[in-house]
Amino acid sequence: MKTLLNPEYIQGKDFPILNQCVNGQPLVYLDNAATTQKPRKVVESLTRFYETINSNIHRGVHHLSQEATAAYEDARSYISDFMDAGSGYNIVFTRGTTESVNLVASSFSNFLSPSDNVIVSVSDHHSTFVPWQQACLRTGAGFNVAFLLPDGSLDLEQLYGLLRKCHAKILVLPHVSNVIGKRNPVKEIISEAHKYGTAVLVDGAQAIAHFPVSVKDLDADFYCWSGHKAYGPTGIGVLCAKTAWLEKLPPYQFGGEMIEDVSIEKTTFGALPFKFEAGTPPFAEAVALKVALQYIKGIGFGQIEQHEKDLTRYTYHQLGEIPGLKIYGSEEERDDLISFNIEGAYHYDVGVLLDQMGIAVRTGHHCAQPLMRFLGVPGTVRCSFALYNRQHDADRLVEAVRKAAKMLL
Ligand code: PLP
Repeated sequence: MKTLLNPEYIQGKDFPILNQCVNGQPLVYLDNAATTQKPRKVVESLTRFYETINSNIHRGVHHLSQEATAAYEDARSYISDFMDAGSGYNIVFTRGTTESVNLVASSFSNFLSPSDNVIVSVSDHHSTFVPWQQACLRTGAGFNVAFLLPDGSLDLEQLYGLLRKCHAKILVLPHVSNVIGKRNPVKEIISEAHKYGTAVLVDGAQAIAHFPVSVKDLDADFYCWSGHKAYGPTGIGVLCAKTAWLEKLPPYQFGGEMIEDVSIEKTTFGALPFKFEAGTPPFAEAVALKVALQYIKGIGFGQIEQHEKDLTRYTYHQLGEIPGLKIYGSEEERDDLISFNIEGAYHYDVGVLLDQMGIAVRTGHHCAQPLMRFLGVPGTVRCSFALYNRQHDADRLVEAVRKAAKMLL
């Protein structure tokens, strides 16, 4: 496997957490779809913020507050550029993908009635599936599900049939499935959905750190992601949405920061994006998230995408040679994760054995129980890659899975 990236160097220089032993073995961290590790610069950025300019934003006339406000708003505009959002979009800071989707589902449900329809994908994470399921139950709107083909890709024929039939108000789908790892052709899907007046919410949690995303080019109505899956801190996420939508939607939460004027009789709300940012936002985290995205840009998506794809392809083939191992989804259009099971072994037991060999993977339903039901399994083992993973990590995983299979069968 050829790589232009030097993950060995990157691990040593930027990710001290990876240079440790777990259960007596050098750690191999392959749980990046759950959360990525943080480069030193991101950790330092948080410390620097608290040691130099920490102060609540927007309301202060004093120096520190103005510095903190400027840094927070600068992070917002950096993120807008990072996503190629352009002037038709706004960036709202949230706590993560989950809150971004809940915000939209909660506000958007004001426009749903029993004659309306919503379409979700069976591969949606619970954080996208459940808010829309609940919005439909609350409003009586129809809840429609797009399914997958046997190779794990979205069944576009069925999805387009649904769009034609029900002219849904909104379609919700992941850019990359956190179980199958397939990249959905969202640009094509959005263009099709718009023909029927259907808005599209894209869950970009498994995309944003792995390849360049231009929301403007995709023409997405809503695009959601989490900072902690993109080498940034926890507690911060992004909702990038078309300004026209955010102007129409009512606020999601009420409180400080989001108001224009409050009297006993009524409240008027602040301008965008503040109307959706009630309370003290995660300002130190926003600043550190900018540093994380700068780190990604410093390495370059060209290199990251190629490296992760090569590593995934290599691992896919190596795992595929293990007798009795079943991988979910074909190799095509696959990004940086692989879900599998050893036939006859319980996914949890495989995960425990891998941990004993120093390898961190995730096991279980991956917050995607509708997909598990569709696949007919209670859970899978999932390995997921990041820019710092090496071929050596893949080799250690494959060797450990072989050992685990021998021990369990
Ligand atoms: N969507 C996808 C595809 C995910 O993989 C995850 C987390 O694993 C989420 C949404 C939820 O992200 P968070 O828990 O950061 O809100």
